[in-house]
Amino acid sequence: MSRRKFLKTSALATGGILLAGCVQATENKAIDKPIVPKPQLNKPIVISTWIHGLDANQGAWKVLSNKGTALDAVEQGVRITESEKDNRSVGIGGLPDRDGIVTLDACIMNHENECGAVGCLTDIEHPISVARKVMEDTPHVMLVGQGAYDFAIEKGFPKIDLLTPESKTLWEEWKASEDLKKPEINSENHDTIGMLAMDADGNISGACTTSGWAYKLHGRIGDSPIIGAGLFVDNEVGGACATGLGEAVIRIAGSATVVELMRHGKSPQEACEIAVNRIIAKHKDITGLQVGFLAMNNNGEVGAHSVFAGFNYALTKKDTHELIDATYENEW
Ligand code: ASP
Repeated sequence: MSRRKFLKTSALATGGILLAGCVQATENKAIDKPIVPKPQLNKPIVISTWIHGLDANQGAWKVLSNKGTALDAVEQGVRITESEKDNRSVGIGGLPDRDGIVTLDACIMNHENECGAVGCLTDIEHPISVARKVMEDTPHVMLVGQGAYDFAIEKGFPKIDLLTPESKTLWEEWKASEDLKKPEINSENHDTIGMLAMDADGNISGACTTSGWAYKLHGRIGDSPIIGAGLFVDNEVGGACATGLGEAVIRIAGSATVVELMRHGKSPQEACEIAVNRIIAKHKDITGLQVGFLAMNNNGEVGAHSVFAGFNYALTKKDTHELIDATYENEW
């Protein structure tokens, strides 16, 4: 065989192999089909983090029980917590950053994977509603800082002072004590509210809103406004949200991880447990590192798990309105 003919033949052969590979890849196309069933026996249903979730769920339930959407339910629900002045970790009354400025983070996600978020937002009472406007009125997902504030004002949100006298006093005491250690994140300081709801149509939405880590550096943004970290929803599978030390949640793309585990057949409880254990495995020192995950699959089954004891969540559905202690890995 001449060298030219050999090259041509082998090129053809290689092409054939490549082509065959192509055909095969198309035939065995990697599929991303959730294996979670969807009878949705539990709908409508709403769950949210911590004891403040009880009041928030009632707001959400008003919407759900009137055949409203899960999106409206989660927005209305967490707005209640954002307005609670004696809550030190969400909305007005939240503890400020190191410089005495209250900065808020929030995000929202609907059943069509549409999402919006704000980070480091100042002087606005309802970051969750600003996040929804980012989702609905802009081509973006996230606005932060001055840009988020300007956008909120442009959309007609009123400017208010978020630093209550009580929070200001606590911040002044903290400054005077020069105690710059990590604030403990536990059930007593009430934490972020993350909420997941499934409406009567079986659609799932989620919301997450917080003033974040008390006395953080100015400009710090945690997991709560980050889609995939503090919150993730995929209507074909379910949703998840997180609370606790945001930096640790971000490191494992926490809520997205929980949803992907459910996509591949884990129950919400198993998915939360695996994500918590991944966080533990990825940190050399978990002293004071509290993280809790809360999840719901598209069957309306729920699960929750945390690194340390003390995490709880509110669950509301027909004839049920209760606070449930999450399972956990460690005692404090
Ligand atoms: N995850 C929130 C943050 O890191 C804090 C919290 O849930 O308490 O900002």
